Amino acid sequence: MFNSQQPIPDEYILMSEKDRDERIRAIKSNLGSRLVILGHHYQRDEVIRYADYRGDSLKLAQLAAQEKEAEYIVFCGVHFMAETADMLTSSEQKVILPDLEAGCPMADMAEIDDVEECWNLLTAQYSQEIIPVTYVNSSAEVKAFCGRNGGMTCTSSNAPKIFGKLLGEKKSILFLPDEHLGRNTGLKWGLHDQDILLWTRENPEEVELPEKAPKLILWNGYCTVHQKFKTHHVDEVRRKYPGVTVIVHPECSHAVVERADLSGSTDYIIRQISAAPAGSVWAVGTEINLVHRLAQENPDKTVVSLNENVCLCIMMSRISQPHLLAALENLNQGKVVNQICVDRKITADAISALNRMLELSK
Ligand code: SF4
Repeated sequence: MFNSQQPIPDEYILMSEKDRDERIRAIKSNLGSRLVILGHHYQRDEVIRYADYRGDSLKLAQLAAQEKEAEYIVFCGVHFMAETADMLTSSEQKVILPDLEAGCPMADMAEIDDVEECWNLLTAQYSQEIIPVTYVNSSAEVKAFCGRNGGMTCTSSNAPKIFGKLLGEKKSILFLPDEHLGRNTGLKWGLHDQDILLWTRENPEEVELPEKAPKLILWNGYCTVHQKFKTHHVDEVRRKYPGVTVIVHPECSHAVVERADLSGSTDYIIRQISAAPAGSVWAVGTEINLVHRLAQENPDKTVVSLNENVCLCIMMSRISQPHLLAALENLNQGKVVNQICVDRKITADAISALNRMLELSK
């Protein structure tokens, strides 16, 4: 796993928000093009307002790779995102995560030893080619595992294209770590429940392997945020807002995706709502910071959360204004803290998985 976060000095917590704001802006201006701050869509407003770029994890990492002048890349997101940014940037560039405890629970559900065990059992049982595909929301080690074994990464945007190509070539897919994105994508391509095997990582010895290789093997990881949306929320919101369009992220369960009107990545959700006519009403099944921002940025439309009880990514929220300031103060003094460094061999294998994704999703 990764290093633990050292407590940040009290002064940053006790300082007023205005003072922290002034200090962050002063450091940004002092470091100029030596510093790039990246903010994931799910970050709180108190942090994302300092981001030079906003986006999903892969887009941000690719933007970081284009920022050749930047010595410091401060990633306001979670651990696996900072890892991807480190792997895509040069060895001179330093990627910093303002709170080292900000990890993604879903990514942590696929530990490399468990994945290797699953792979050994599957490849011992089946002669058919199995391609490991991991959602980018996974550790660098799992991405590297896919790269080493002829597999690739995918995002929620390009998963349908990648599944389509592999299934069209009659290959079986081992999909990590999100059961729901995998199931939603497989069913979209016409797979049936009997084509899909669920791999229970907690007790692999209890998984009954059928005689023929399943078309899709799903790791049983999940996003703790998107699992909070249930079918009864869709029914309730339709009663409350007649004519509402329900749009959800494919990390939601298949039952929710099926009952919604639309589903797609965060970028897809943003594009749909931005392009919608004034007066339209939207219920959105994704992280609450993004839903609030969509409501603010589309004042001519009604945008509400599909679940009225706040669906917050607690791990993303660990990146607070005081944590960001503490990281920047150190950089301003030439001290690099909370750097995320991925081993070179892991990087090489993971990059081949990322490159295969880019090639297949063209
Ligand atoms: S929203 Fe879900 S997938 Fe994204 S970082 Fe949080 S727990 Fe992980």
